[in-house]
Amino acid sequence: GDAVGAQRLTDGIHLVVDALKLNEVEAVYGVVGIPITDLARLAQASGIRYVGFRHESAAGHAAAAAGFLTRKPGICLTVSAPGFLNGLVALANATVNCFPMVQISGSSERHLVDLQRGDYEEMDQLAAARQFAKAAYRVHRAEDIGRGIARAIRTAVSGRPGGVYLDIPAAVLGEVIDADLGAASLWRVVDPAPRQVPEPAALDRAIELLANAQRPLVVLGKGAAYAQADEEIREFVERTGIPYLPMSMAKGLLPDDHPQSVASTRSLALRRADVVMLVGARLNWLLGHGDAPQWNPDVKFIQVDIASTELDSNQPIAAPLVGDVGSVMQALIDRTGPGRITPPAPWRDELAARSADNVGKMAKRLAAAETAHPMRFLGALQAVRDVLRDNPRAYVVNEGANALDLARNTIGMQVPRHRLDSGTWGVMGIGLGFAIAAAVESGDPVVAIEGDSAFGFSGMELETICRYDLPIVTVVLNNSGVYRGDAAASESGDPAPTALQARHDLMIAAFGGKGYRATTPDEVTAALREALALGKPALIDCVIDPADGTESGNIAHLNPKGITVQR
Ligand code: ADP
Repeated sequence: GDAVGAQRLTDGIHLVVDALKLNEVEAVYGVVGIPITDLARLAQASGIRYVGFRHESAAGHAAAAAGFLTRKPGICLTVSAPGFLNGLVALANATVNCFPMVQISGSSERHLVDLQRGDYEEMDQLAAARQFAKAAYRVHRAEDIGRGIARAIRTAVSGRPGGVYLDIPAAVLGEVIDADLGAASLWRVVDPAPRQVPEPAALDRAIELLANAQRPLVVLGKGAAYAQADEEIREFVERTGIPYLPMSMAKGLLPDDHPQSVASTRSLALRRADVVMLVGARLNWLLGHGDAPQWNPDVKFIQVDIASTELDSNQPIAAPLVGDVGSVMQALIDRTGPGRITPPAPWRDELAARSADNVGKMAKRLAAAETAHPMRFLGALQAVRDVLRDNPRAYVVNEGANALDLARNTIGMQVPRHRLDSGTWGVMGIGLGFAIAAAVESGDPVVAIEGDSAFGFSGMELETICRYDLPIVTVVLNNSGVYRGDAAASESGDPAPTALQARHDLMIAAFGGKGYRATTPDEVTAALREALALGKPALIDCVIDPADGTESGNIAHLNPKGITVQR
């Protein structure tokens, strides 16, 4: 702080930065403006990496992804009202995905806002944030900044992780207090996400169910990936030999070519399994709520989850294993004697036979796509898959409709927490924010596989990628439309609601990155190999047949069915 006479002083901005540093925050993702510009400057000058975005939702998505990857809350910094609201989309998405994140926002003058006198960017941000976040707090005095940040970190990361909003009015950021008092008001959160061990009786119930099952199945979700209990999960799955299904962001916890994976026979596994252990996976829409006929009507569920209120949310849970994934899996390993759980051979054979069938069918589709011209999604994706096989450390970010469904099924993951995607909401717009966080947090290369529509929501962040010179290759699967690009124009001459048009390769060139345009799988291969070797910002615009792709991808059934509309 500055010395005035004999007294050393500090202010709200310094206290925020000091509190973040004390809690080992290494990166902040944000967009500057009144009243937080100096906060970003000071954070950077103090050794925190500040990553400045073009739009707050992308900054927020980056913070959320950083939280998922590191198990420490990602920090997003936003300005008042509109900037705050833009960031709130990501805070809500983080909460829905159970990613730890803290959005710190400046806000306008309380005495003006609360009387609705029409302040600059007037808004009651705390009230707005509360319903979209795990928690929302406001700091009213500089001396409470340390407490506010500690509380936000603790809330974001303990129990079920989520997004926390921390409101700091401009007046508090500018408040000057005694430096020693300020320093004494800060603290470091001790053991921010303590382990939670499960109930022994529930463990015994779970083991009993698995031991007596005819057709057991383990479902691994992104909570299992988040938990960083990779060894415990692998040991339990491999020791018992139970077939497992990875949800999309759990891919790579065990390598996707693992013999126990039933990813290629998902529907049979769900329909037939009689005992299912959910590990950090919710029985939400992505798993058909556990309902028949997608599931066996007599299935019994075991659920491993840190959030006790998740259990029984959709189906009866016969063995509730409330605890963190690492502790629960370790306890299961410790209590399961050798040979106690062995999935019957007929079940393994049934799955293997169907898997061979499905893999054969898929091989035919892939072979047909390989030579199709114009290029099809699966043609471009096979090329990406083959290059990624040689680059297993690369992170994969994936969003879109067809681009999401087809890439998820085509591209295997070898390493845990290396796939980041649209998640629980199936949201578009996470792409470049997630990619930037993966690159910043890891230093490793990132390949963002984007539908052309999905890309548009965060496309301006190409400039951010180029400005920070990040090793991110954006692969746009460009079929010139939302879902597909072959819809006729309307009678008025306006393009169809689903139509799009862009040369994305020219966009990145404007920011100093390298653009490629690929019209064949071979061109995709060559471009991706070159771009990854350079380790520089690049974009490959893959020209896809506008007639390839299906409306809404795999989830067309979610569209309301009224009177049929002309397509
Ligand atoms: P997916 O979409 O991959 O199926 P979900 O996001 O639906 O996964 O489920 C993740 C679940 O994991 C949430 O219910 C969350 O409470 C839980 N979870 C998050 N972290 C942990 C942890 N460390 N231990 C146990 N459960 C966790």
